Amino acid sequence: MRFVIAYEGLLNVSSLNLERAAEIRKMPVIYWENGRPNFIPEVPAISGVMLKHWHFRNLVELSRERENESLCFFCRQLQAIRIPPKSVQKYYEIQYCEKEIDLIKNCVGEDVHGFLWAEKEKTGGEGGEKGEKKKGRGEGRTLRRESCVWFSWAIGLPLISEEYRRIVVVQHTRNISNIPPDAPEEVRQLQMPYPRPYASDLFGFISVANLSRIGVSYTDNLQAIDSNVRKRRQKNTILAYARMIQGEVGANLARSLPASIPIKVFLAASKKGMIPAPVHPIYPNYLIESAKLIKGAADLFGDEYRVRIYAPYIDENVKKEITNILNDAAVFVDDPYRGFKDIISFLELEECTGKQQ
Ligand SMILES: [Zn+2]
Repeated sequence: MRFVIAYEGLLNVSSLNLERAAEIRKMPVIYWENGRPNFIPEVPAISGVMLKHWHFRNLVELSRERENESLCFFCRQLQAIRIPPKSVQKYYEIQYCEKEIDLIKNCVGEDVHGFLWAEKEKTGGEGGEKGEKKKGRGEGRTLRRESCVWFSWAIGLPLISEEYRRIVVVQHTRNISNIPPDAPEEVRQLQMPYPRPYASDLFGFISVANLSRIGVSYTDNLQAIDSNVRKRRQKNTILAYARMIQGEVGANLARSLPASIPIKVFLAASKKGMIPAPVHPIYPNYLIESAKLIKGAADLFGDEYRVRIYAPYIDENVKKEITNILNDAAVFVDDPYRGFKDIISFLELEECTGKQQ
């Protein structure tokens, strides 16, 4: 079972891609324009790490609403520390299980978003001749689970002329209304200007959720968790995307929630999970090209699939072409959430009881 999404939307005046200090992320990209590649040195870009983090937060919040859904110490606090070393566990007086199956049973965060547990044990390397350390022996254990969800970067799209694409740094000021003359210098220093960069752009990203991997341990002989819990997590994994499409996907939401509008939201799912990721919105005709790829892959692998597209400003000819490719499997929806609902229903995930067996 697989769910994929391609998003295109306007995110105006935001610093979503501010990951550290006062610097906004920019990346070089190669667009495909008029049949040839076109290199652009810098466009605003929101990292896949940031998008994945917001999906994680949404997933935890959705999971917290169900009393039976278990969450570990850090995930419950929306902190993506998967998994802390034993010294940190000891400090917080918590204990994580040792096996992948137990770790994913205990927390939807570790299950869906994966983890890396690298424990350095203090046995040390054995000294060889001349005192060198032998690598790979006595250096602790590593247990890794790959994330079930994958994210591209959100990239500024080429539809806007370069001259409009810029990052503006604004000097905000913190004022103190009354500073007595005998106040220590530190009080005066609290009143200060601080710079914040903002960008406006048409952004696009894609993501893949490998729903079949959820609740299955790959290092414990494919043991699976309770089937109802698994279903509920699969459903919440899809719902966590639905909370991202209005621009709640990055830093500084308190000060600069983006002036956002989704332009196109392409959703697809298949039962066997053989459909590919959609084409990223930085490429021309990505909706048509994604439709072709998904149809082709579903035919090749004999996979049952559905596509839902929210695209209120789409050209009628493009709409017709997509309908010709996908026939009944695709529906254009009037609001993106309807599309999510249809996909959840197609995957038979809507009736998830909270009960564990
Ligand atoms: Zn967790």
